[in-house]
Formats: sequence, structure tokens, C-alpha cells
Amino acid sequence: MNTIDEKLQPILSTVMHRNAGEPEFHQAAREVLESLGRVVQRNPHYSDEALIERICEPERQIIFRVPWIDDNNNVQINRGFRVQFNSALGPYKGGIRFHPSVNVGIIKFLGFEQTFKNALTGMPIGGGKGGSDFDPKGKSDREVMRFCQSFMIELNRHIGHDVDVPAGDIGVGAREIGYMFGMYKRLNNRFDAGVLTGKGLSYGGSRARKEATGYGTAFFVRSMLAQKGTDFEGKRVVVSGSGNVAIYAMEKVLSFGGKIVACSDSGGYILDEKGVDLDLVKQIKEVRRGRISEYVALRGNGATYVKDGSIWDVPCDIALPCATQNELGKDHAKKLVENGVIAVAEGANMPCTPEAVHLFQKAGILFAPGKAANAGGVATSALEMQQNASRDSWSFAKTEGRLEEIMIGIHDSCFQTAEEYGAPGDYVLGANIAGFVRVADAMRAMGVI
Ligand code: GLU
Repeated sequence: MNTIDEKLQPILSTVMHRNAGEPEFHQAAREVLESLGRVVQRNPHYSDEALIERICEPERQIIFRVPWIDDNNNVQINRGFRVQFNSALGPYKGGIRFHPSVNVGIIKFLGFEQTFKNALTGMPIGGGKGGSDFDPKGKSDREVMRFCQSFMIELNRHIGHDVDVPAGDIGVGAREIGYMFGMYKRLNNRFDAGVLTGKGLSYGGSRARKEATGYGTAFFVRSMLAQKGTDFEGKRVVVSGSGNVAIYAMEKVLSFGGKIVACSDSGGYILDEKGVDLDLVKQIKEVRRGRISEYVALRGNGATYVKDGSIWDVPCDIALPCATQNELGKDHAKKLVENGVIAVAEGANMPCTPEAVHLFQKAGILFAPGKAANAGGVATSALEMQQNASRDSWSFAKTEGRLEEIMIGIHDSCFQTAEEYGAPGDYVLGANIAGFVRVADAMRAMGVI
């Protein structure tokens, strides 16, 4: 663990006390507070008026019951959440996660991260996050629809294009956004396209939104590698996950000349030394909603499936954790370092534990934190809001071009901020400080609110 400035230690204690039993939120807050020591030493006004403590406290937290009826006519109950974390820069913005692990602490950590991530994009969006402990796995399409409708009947009263704009996250893609948008439209009798992002193209979605998080991560890594005078060409790349983020990170990495040798889902990972066939992964995951284990038989080229093991044992030059929080721990990091990894970038939110991050940084490996490396998704959501507000629809090339510019901008701002604060190459510090300063300056300007 890194140390925390003595001025900031009481704030972390308060966060831990107020949010007892929420380890992911403590972890995220600690990491940011570790970075802010240098800011308050240099600019003491940033710790005035309890500004940092206010940033650590969500503006509003909503918890609600979500009743729905399953295909056997039984009533099911889930819990819904929306944490409206910070609106200093714009309407709350952040995804909705449907996964059995969801609880208020997880949504809070995600909302906290989102606040800084959104600030880094330079777009006018605040931070928020939502979700439910509903498990879409194994549910029929009709069950998913009924659940989404019930979820929106409550969420409806808390959102709006100038208030709070949810999108997808784990377990929530275009299908779920469509069902939620349909219910929102019906409840309000208005086609308010900008109330949700990640919509289907035919009703106000943006081109390149689906690809944006993964593409953005690859753009970020390209900039990091360029800083060291290298690139993706011929590099072995391992990507955990096979959802939206992983699939489109792989797609862009391939276009940059990298070779993908492994990817995974919650059941295990596949190893394909001939190079992962991305079309086949898309077919399995996007079309059939199947398991990655099906890849081996369908590919029929000697690729293997490993059920009990870690994808991080696979030797690679570049590792992209794109699955979920804390999926890559100290021992995994050690193994990656031993095997000669040169860069690690978080496509997911906080997939590396603090011990793993520390190890990478000590070993001099390029490390990109999620709030910078995966910001392309939410940045493109902001572009979707922009298109909706102007009743416009941009081409794929224009949208991707903006995404690329934004990712280069985020990279450069993290890199320069780290230099400025005497920690060259520390993208964690750079991202935390650059994101913080933008939110903090806006909050200071608005007084104690
Ligand atoms: N869930 C994504 C994230 O973690 C996207 C959020 C959004 O588009 O609002 O950034």
C-alpha cells in the first residue's frame, strides 16, 4: 500500500466509517486519496471547505424494490440502485449493471470512479452508476423485458436528459437499454432520446458506441506504447472477458497488428496460439449468447479451453483485463511480470487489485488505470447525447474520429499531469489528479453545495 498524506487520512477514516462493509468503495477512495497528497501539498486550497470529503460523499443514493413475474408465474424480487455521485460537471452519467454481485458498495465504487473518468473525457458529464442484483444469465428474453420494465418504472422518476443519463455496463446491453427506453417513453409520453445512451441505432443510438470502450482502450495503449517508442505490431496480447469491452478491444488491437492469444468468460479461458478468431468469438457471444468453451470445437484448430486456471498465466507482452473488478491480483501480476509483460491497461473498472498495480509500477511496467483507459465508452455516450440534443446522427468515421481524439487527449493529460507532479510515467497519479482538479475547480466555483 502507498501512504496517504496526513491531511487526507481522516477523510479516508470517515469514508470507511460512513460506508462500513463496502470494501470496493474503500479501495477506490483510498487509491484516489493516495494520489491527492501531492495536490494538497502544492495547492492547500484544495482541502478547504471539506472539498475532498464532499467529493467522496455521493450527492444522492437511491435503493428500490424491483418486483417482476418470471415465466412460471412466480413473483420475483430484486434490489435496484442508482447512486448519483457528483453533478458538478453535468448531469449524472454512468452505466447500469445487472449482476448477482451488485450491492450498494459496488455501485458506489463505480459511481466514484465514474466521476473522475467522466471528468477526464473533458465532456460536460457528472458521475453516477446504477444496477441490480438481477442475474440475466439463464433468463428468457421475456423475463429480461419484464425485469427491465419494472426497473424503469421506479428509475424513471430519478432520471432525465439534464438530470441523470444511465447507459449499459455488465449485463446491460442494447437489448436491456431498448426495454428500459420503451418503458421510459411510455411512462412520460415523450421521445426523450437523450435520457439513456447505448440505444439501438434505429431509435437514437450512436454509431461506434458499442465499439467505443474497447476501441478506446486500444487507442490509449497505443499512445502509451508510442511514448516508449514502440507499438502493437507483432505483440502477444491477452484479454480477459469476452463481452462488449473485450471484443472491441481485440478488434482494434488486431487492426493495429497485435496478436490475440487468449480471452475468457466467467467459466474459463481459451488459448489459441494461431491467434483468436474474433468473428467466431462474436458469433458465440453476441449472436448465440453462448459460452466461450464452445470456441474449441467450432474452431477445430487445436485451440484449448482451460476451466480451472488463470488467464494471466498465459505469457504475453500486453495484458488487457476487461472482465470485472479485482480479477487480477498480486500473484497474477507477479506471473505476468515474470513472463515479460510490458503494458497492462484496465478495460474493466478496477480489475487490478492495489497490490497488483503496485507490483506493475515497481517493475516499471506501463500501467493504465480504468478511469483513463476505459473512458472511451462514456465519452461516446456523451457524443450520443450531443447527437440526440441536435437531432443528428453522425457517421461511424466521424464518431470514431472524435473518440480517438478524446482518448489521445486523456492519455496526454494523464501523462503531463504525472510529469507536472513529479511522478513521470505514473498514469494512476496522473489520472486521479487530472480528473480531481476538473471536478474540484467546478465545485469550488459553485460554493458549498
Ligand atoms: N458503463 C460504462 C463505464 O463504466 C459506460 C457508462 C456510460 O456510457 O454512461 O464507463
